[in-house]
Amino acid sequence: MLDSARSWFHKFQHKKEKFGEKKKEKENSKDAQNPFVDEAPSNDTKQKVTAAKQYIENHYKAQMKCLQDRKERRWMLERKLADADVSTEEQINLLKYFEKKETEYMRLQRHKMCVDDFELLTIIGRGAFGEVRLCREKSTRNVYAMKKLKKSEMLRRGQVEHVKAERNLLAEVDSACIVKLYCSFQDEEYLYLIMEYLPGGDMMTLLMRKDTLIEDEARFYVGQTVLAIESIHKHSYIHRDIKPDNLLLDRYGHMKLSDFGLCKPLDSSSFPDLSENGSGVRRNLKSTIEGDKKSNAPYVPRRTQQEKLLHWQKNRRMLAYSTVGTPDYIAPEVLLKKGYGMECDWWSLGAIMYEMLVGFPPFYSDEPMSTCRKIVNWRSHLKFPEEAKLSAEAKDLICRLLCHVEQRLGTKGASEIKAHPWFKGIQWEKLYQMEAAFIPEVNDDLDTQNFEKFEESGMPVPPPSKSGPWRKALADAGKM
Ligand code: ADP
Ligand code: MG
Repeated sequence: MLDSARSWFHKFQHKKEKFGEKKKEKENSKDAQNPFVDEAPSNDTKQKVTAAKQYIENHYKAQMKCLQDRKERRWMLERKLADADVSTEEQINLLKYFEKKETEYMRLQRHKMCVDDFELLTIIGRGAFGEVRLCREKSTRNVYAMKKLKKSEMLRRGQVEHVKAERNLLAEVDSACIVKLYCSFQDEEYLYLIMEYLPGGDMMTLLMRKDTLIEDEARFYVGQTVLAIESIHKHSYIHRDIKPDNLLLDRYGHMKLSDFGLCKPLDSSSFPDLSENGSGVRRNLKSTIEGDKKSNAPYVPRRTQQEKLLHWQKNRRMLAYSTVGTPDYIAPEVLLKKGYGMECDWWSLGAIMYEMLVGFPPFYSDEPMSTCRKIVNWRSHLKFPEEAKLSAEAKDLICRLLCHVEQRLGTKGASEIKAHPWFKGIQWEKLYQMEAAFIPEVNDDLDTQNFEKFEESGMPVPPPSKSGPWRKALADAGKM
C-alpha cells in the first residue's frame, strides 16, 4: 500500500519536473524526502481545492438535473400513453424506443464529438451558411442530420447570436414538435449541429408536389404548426422565419419545426438592394407605400390562379436557396423594423395556411422586393382567387392572422387560434398521435427520396420530369 503511494508520488514528482517546477522543488526538498509531512496547504492549493470542489459539485448538480429531467420526460410520456388509445404492447415498444433515444442523447452529450466521428452521406439541404447532410456516427451506426455552418459567413452577416439561439433553443426545448438537437461542436472553419434526421422531407417540397391541400389536410398541418409555435413561444423564443422550408416531416408524416435563429431576412436591411436603380430597400419600401396610396401603380395583366401557381413553383426553389431566402411569410412589422413580438410568427402561419389552400403565398410576386411591398400594403393586396373555393371559416382565420398586430389572433396566446371555428372538432392533445394527412414513403434509415438531389457543390440537380404533378406543371409552363 505504502509502496504504491510512493511510486505514485514519484510519478507526480516526475511530472512536476517536466513542467519546469524544479526551483520550487528545491525549496521543498525536505518535504520531498518525507512526502507524508503534515503541513498546512498553501493558498494556491486551497484555491485549487475549492475550484475542484466547485467543479465536481456543479458537475453532479448538472447530472442530477439531467436525470431529474429525464425522469420527468419519462413520467410525462407514461401519462400520455395511459391517456392515449394505445395497446400495451405498443406502449412497451414506445417506452423502449424512448429509453434508447435518451441513452443516445446522454452519450452524445458526454463525449467530445468531432466531424471525424461521422461518415458523411447525402446532402439533403443547402442554405445561406452551409449545408445539411445525412450522416452516420461511425461507432454506433446511428443516423443523424448534420447541419454545417460556415463561421466566417455567420460573422460577416452578424448572425452569430442567432446561431447560438438556434443551438440553445434546439437543446433546451424538448418537444414533440421541435427537431431534436443531439450535440454541437466546431472546428476552425465550421460549426456543426447534429440533429435527428427527419426523412419525410420538408413542407415546401410536399406543397410543390401536391399543388394545393384540401382543408382537412391543411387543418392537420396548420394545427401541428400552431402547437410547434406555441411550444417555442412558451420558452420565450420568437422564430421569425416560419415558412414551409423550415417545417420538416418525420417518418410518420408528423411535422416538426426547425431552423431556429437563422432567420435570414431578419429585417428589411438584411435584404440586398433588389431595386433596379439601386436606391436602397427602405426608401424603396417607403415610396411604394406612398405610391400605393395614390394608386397609380402601372397596369399589370391579371394572372389566373393556375398561371400564378406555375410561376410560383418555377421560382420557389431558386428563392429558397438564395442567400436572402424568400420574404413571402415575413410579417409587415418585421419588414418595417417597427419592433415586433411573438405575433409575427402567427402572421407567418396565416401565410402558410393561405399557400396550402390556394397554391402560392398571399403576397407572391415576380421578385422579392415587390413581395415586400405587397406585404407592407397587405390591406390592398390580400385577395382570395375565386377558383380556390375556400370555406368561409378558412378565409376568416387567414384574415384574422394576416392583419395588423393589434387585431391579430394569437396575440393573447395560442388558445385564441385553437378556438377558431375552422379548427372545430380537432383534437389538439391527440394531434401528434393521430395518423398524418400524408404518410411519406421511407424505405430505410438512409432513404433521402423525399429531398431534392444536390450536387456536392452548387445548386440542386434539376428534378427528373417523371414524378410529381408540379414537375408536369413546370414542363407545361415551359411550353407556354
Ligand atoms: P437554412 O438555415 O439554410 O434554411 P435549414 O435548417 O432550414 O437551414 O435546413 C435546410 C434544409 O435542409 C431544410 O429545408 C430541410 O429540407 C433540410 N433539413 C434541415 N434539417 C433537417 C433534419 N434534421 N432532417 C431532415 N432534413 C433537414
Ligand atoms: Mg431553413
